[in-house]
Amino acid sequence: MKGCFFVFNKSKKRMSIDRIRDSQEIFRCPLCSKPMNLIHLQSLICMNQHCFDIAKQGYINLSSRSIKSKYDRQTFETRRIISESGLFHPLQAAVSEVILSQNMSKDSIRLLDAGCGEGSHLNSIQSTINQRKRNAIFAVGIDISKEGISLAAAEYSNAMWCVADIANIPLANEQFNFIINILSPANYSEFQRLLTDHGLVIKVVPEQHYLKEIRDSLYKGTGKQVYSNTPTIRYFNERFNLIAVEDIQYQVSLSEHLISPLLGMTPLSWGASQESREQILRMDLRQITMDFKILVGMKPHHRISGLY
Ligand SMILES: [Zn+2]
Repeated sequence: MKGCFFVFNKSKKRMSIDRIRDSQEIFRCPLCSKPMNLIHLQSLICMNQHCFDIAKQGYINLSSRSIKSKYDRQTFETRRIISESGLFHPLQAAVSEVILSQNMSKDSIRLLDAGCGEGSHLNSIQSTINQRKRNAIFAVGIDISKEGISLAAAEYSNAMWCVADIANIPLANEQFNFIINILSPANYSEFQRLLTDHGLVIKVVPEQHYLKEIRDSLYKGTGKQVYSNTPTIRYFNERFNLIAVEDIQYQVSLSEHLISPLLGMTPLSWGASQESREQILRMDLRQITMDFKILVGMKPHHRISGLY
């Protein structure tokens, strides 16, 4: 059994190395921005000798600085449980649909998930597109959290996984025709740089009724439960040509064992008292509301001379 396990691991890493070797031109050094090459089937190196090793799980850490993520491994494992329960399926299906309907080209879909966490959104979207489309899909997931990327690489072998700083993405210009950014911070300058000419950004933000049942209970009477996406949308609209907005709201029935992970996953519960957490656990919550806005923006290419 031990031997089998070893062979399994080895082939998984080898698959990742082959994928990196076949697409090494997409990388650029996070320290000096020069192109990178794969050497000895184990590291990416630039002409200035900045060298980054491929981890045994098959991902590559190209973060230019060490950032202490506020999310630990347990947070990502919790998110994985939530995601595998299907809570996000309708959202993931809607994002896949946007990509399928907007992809006019017969060429391969080149998709980047910026802020992919433990990778389940990208994996689900990639699988849906694969089932529906004959176009090859080339998918890359990046996240600043090594814990998240390590979990993604261990579970999903169809995409390329990379630890990276979203403010300094170690990927070459104009490599992607789609960038997804799901419930995660964005860096629009970097997104513009990475998109091809008619490329699209698909950003998902939580809407007012997202996890309403939990929010109502935690913040009843404090006024904190009301929030607005207007500034986020306005800012998105300033950086991209907003071509579509889709609201997606649904309710999911909740098995009892998911309530605690859900509380652990949501930033809403940070700062909530132990008492209110326990109150929610006692509430016998049977369903939960999911409420999102999907913003679809095109890279602006009609530049007005003098302004740029
Ligand atoms: Zn370099």
